[in-house]
Amino acid sequence: MDDALLISARAAKGFMPDDEGLALHAAGGVAAAAGLGPLMEIGTYCGKSAIYLGAAARDAGTVLFTVDHHRGSEENQAGWEHHDTSLVDPATGRMDTLPTFRRTLEASGLEPHVIAVIGGSTTVATYWTTPLALLFIDGGHAHDVAWADYRAWSPKVAEGGYLAIHDVFEDPADGGRPPYELWCDAVSSRGWTEVSATGSLRVLQRLERLDEPER
Ligand code: SAH
Ligand code: MG
Repeated sequence: MDDALLISARAAKGFMPDDEGLALHAAGGVAAAAGLGPLMEIGTYCGKSAIYLGAAARDAGTVLFTVDHHRGSEENQAGWEHHDTSLVDPATGRMDTLPTFRRTLEASGLEPHVIAVIGGSTTVATYWTTPLALLFIDGGHAHDVAWADYRAWSPKVAEGGYLAIHDVFEDPADGGRPPYELWCDAVSSRGWTEVSATGSLRVLQRLERLDEPER
């Protein structure tokens, strides 16, 4: 990865250890080079992972779309473990990560290659029809939110495209269950095969497009 972008990514506020970010960048690079479509991230926050993925998109001549309502997940709200008071809009008292993301993206130089989509992820999915080279799921980690993202977005990955899931912890002592459940569902289904695992990042590839059975 480009040295300047790596410095930007490491400096950005967020939840992406460097080894996992580099693995994400590598997966994004392979996916983008396959020419199957753009990259898609669910869960922008302040743009840390978007730099790792956006660098890959830029190098392959495609773009990263990154979806977030910028109001924070349940776990980012006041009183929760991942709350950051510097991300509260003083005018309203609500979380707003968009200004910080905009500054991070501008400083990185990736503005032409990373496109922010501001809104609820399943609402955006309802109207999204472009096949994806890579889908990165890192939005809300509550059970219903994570499953809704997976159900709404994973069918949009192109044949031969990739699905990356963050915060997959086999041991419940290390973190919440939902991302691990999504990964279990994908690896046990006929349509996906595991490609790599780095820390809590799992990458799968869609082998062939099959109609998913109703769950
Ligand atoms: N990828 C980021 C971390 C994402 S944190 C990084 O590398 O640092 C999860 C993000 O998902 C939060 O910013 C939150 O606002 C967003 N989010 C949670 N539920 C959402 C939903 N239903 N629609 C859109 N965004 C959502
Ligand atoms: Mg995460």
